[in-house]
Amino acid sequence: AKPVHKVLDEKPIANEFQLKHWKWIADYYMCSVGEVFRSAVPGAFLLESETLVLRNGEADIDESDLEDDEFLVFEALQHQSSLKVQEVGAIVDRKNVLPILDRLLQKKVILLKEEIYEQYKPKLVKFVKLGGEYQAEEKLEALLKTLTRAPKQSQVVLSLFQLQAVNKKPIKVSELEEASGASKAVIKSLVEKGILEEYFIRTDRVNYEGDGENSDLKRLNEYQEKALADIRNNFKENRAVLLHGVTSSGKTEVYVKLIDECIQSGRQALYLLPEIALTTQLISRLQEYFGDKVSVYHSKYNVQERVEVWNNVLAQKTKAQIIIGARSALFLPFSDLGLVIVDEEHESSFKQFDPAPRYHARDAAIVLGNLHNSHILLGSATPSIESYFNAKTGKYGYAEITRRYGNVLMPEIELVDLKEEARKKRMKGHFSERLFLEIEAALKEGEQVILFQNRRGYAPIVECTTCGHSPQCPNCDVSLTFHQYKKQLRCHYCGYHMALPESCQACGSPTLDTKGFGTEQVEKELETLFPDAKTWRMDLDTTRGKHGFEKIITAFEQHDIDILVGTQMLTKGLDFRNVGLVGIMNADSLLNFPDYRAHERCFQLLTQVAGRAGRTQKRGRVIIQSYNPYHQILKQVSTNDYLEMFKEQLYEREQFKYPPKNRIIRITFKHKEFNRLNEAAEWFAKALRNSSGASVLGPEYPPVARIRNQYLKNLLVKIPSGKSVGGVKTGIKRIERSFNAVAQFRSVRVIYNVDHI
Ligand code: ADP
Ligand code: ZN
Ligand code: ZN
Repeated sequence: AKPVHKVLDEKPIANEFQLKHWKWIADYYMCSVGEVFRSAVPGAFLLESETLVLRNGEADIDESDLEDDEFLVFEALQHQSSLKVQEVGAIVDRKNVLPILDRLLQKKVILLKEEIYEQYKPKLVKFVKLGGEYQAEEKLEALLKTLTRAPKQSQVVLSLFQLQAVNKKPIKVSELEEASGASKAVIKSLVEKGILEEYFIRTDRVNYEGDGENSDLKRLNEYQEKALADIRNNFKENRAVLLHGVTSSGKTEVYVKLIDECIQSGRQALYLLPEIALTTQLISRLQEYFGDKVSVYHSKYNVQERVEVWNNVLAQKTKAQIIIGARSALFLPFSDLGLVIVDEEHESSFKQFDPAPRYHARDAAIVLGNLHNSHILLGSATPSIESYFNAKTGKYGYAEITRRYGNVLMPEIELVDLKEEARKKRMKGHFSERLFLEIEAALKEGEQVILFQNRRGYAPIVECTTCGHSPQCPNCDVSLTFHQYKKQLRCHYCGYHMALPESCQACGSPTLDTKGFGTEQVEKELETLFPDAKTWRMDLDTTRGKHGFEKIITAFEQHDIDILVGTQMLTKGLDFRNVGLVGIMNADSLLNFPDYRAHERCFQLLTQVAGRAGRTQKRGRVIIQSYNPYHQILKQVSTNDYLEMFKEQLYEREQFKYPPKNRIIRITFKHKEFNRLNEAAEWFAKALRNSSGASVLGPEYPPVARIRNQYLKNLLVKIPSGKSVGGVKTGIKRIERSFNAVAQFRSVRVIYNVDHI
């Protein structure tokens, strides 16, 4: 114990609920409470430096125009999401890092935290109304008489009167200008005379320009009502509920009803989303209903703002009664949480991989909700196998909406056999004849088209057609990726790059060819196939700028874009009206991941992308191109058969002892010396096999067994149902302590991932 040097806070900044929750996270995910604290509490409380840098966008990297030192920083941010400037120095091993950061800033690869926050920060908007005494009609008439010789001014007054009568909401100066055709100067002179009054309202930047008054909640249709009733019944019995509603079934409106009830009763509500940056549409929808009771919380905010939200929640201010946030919002100091919603609960981005705590936000949210005795709702059109299993076995309640809102039909899905198409020589580039004709027809009808390809860039791999060799990274065990723009081969893990060689390094033949294709190539082909269509690409490369994502969304909504080509960004809850056709360029790449969840994910991703089609009366069409169109998963997607997918996946997982019936923990060892790593992993595995009743697989190398010259090896622990998971974890921790006592193992890193690997 040491003497107290200084008391930083008059009152505690965290409460008992949080301490219990954080303790649970540390135990369950096998890390220290300190690591949870560091993740949970905004930096300012920890007296860290304020200068923070941040990368923008989603998790996959593009490094085609990054120098090596730039890439190092970018790569570090992949795993940390934010860094202080002085930390960057250590990573790139250089004192003066400002020039690097400068270049990265200019390339918009990283942003200062403050800058990102600009998008969301409240701003003041100027409104205008009739001066107090002119609100009465007779006064207004008298006024108009006095203005007969100033037609412009009287037109302004009349327009404002009409706008107010029709809109019943604050009128912006710009709206008045437009309605009256008068200039700012005319309006200004009226303000000076006191005939008009200007006033300001603080609004959020996320398109929210309301007056803080709620617009009326929508009336639910019978299916939504039924789901709501089922949800409420389960809530009465204190059960978390899974809401399984097909895409565009109106789940959000059901959430809104529950949030409304929750805040009416004076309690706090938490609405968790996988990726805040991609959900401005949703945020503004909620703000329309709940005005300034909604606060957004996000790890990408600057420290001051996060502290502000934190304090508002701590003080139970109505301003922060509804929190929308990504996973870090779980850590706020709620004292009376009445409702927890986890939207798109199946999304893998709820899981934090680095740094510790390596927790899953959906699961941690359920624990949090239970601590507060609050209602808990998970929502998805494609629930995770775990949640659906829990609902089927009665651990969760279950509610469903099987129809889209407004009698809109589910899209019609067609599978196209690429092998067959190629054999019949019907391919135009990467487009089958079917897809080509459908695009042509859609464009003719004035419909918009979305094309999905899961890879960015031009082509992922270069291969020699003579000997099959593809160039490898010297630092990592992966093939290098081809970047058309610089005619370079690059490593996506460490940033190594080289010019594209003229001939094969293995056999010397000049027969290097690209294999596979990315969004860039699709876009190029469209230019030749549909030269008149307005085509745009939505992936990390095109959405880097501050408002990159929003700009594309708006342009698409306004039909300034006919064909949108994109990566999985396209799936994130976008609600477009006019999409007649969705094309999946190649479904195979999704099926061939070495991961026990690959098939589940493929089903979810394709169903979600398909769900963007036909949200109005005309039935939407979806075309899925594949070399393997008879694959079970694709069939299940095309018949929208979630249940069949679930049964099959559950069966497979049971066979191989994976969750949900079994539990798993992955232990990763990491070291730069190959032999030491192997010894360490073997030592650990042996100790574990001797002590625990769980089955231990490995140690094995992961698919990429060396990254940045660090070797990796995994142990997989499978715990059958009925066995105490807690007991196994305690055993593992005990072994880790003895492990660390062995001198030569001390430098080997041990990393745990629980449940989600
Ligand atoms: P989901 O979240 O299930 O994909 P949404 O909540 O986005 O579906 O609803 C799809 C569309 O239907 C939205 O444009 C929404 O405004 C509309 N909608 C849903 N429910 C209602 C309702 N009860 N009244 C009017 N419009 C609704
Ligand atoms: Zn070769
Ligand atoms: Zn590499």
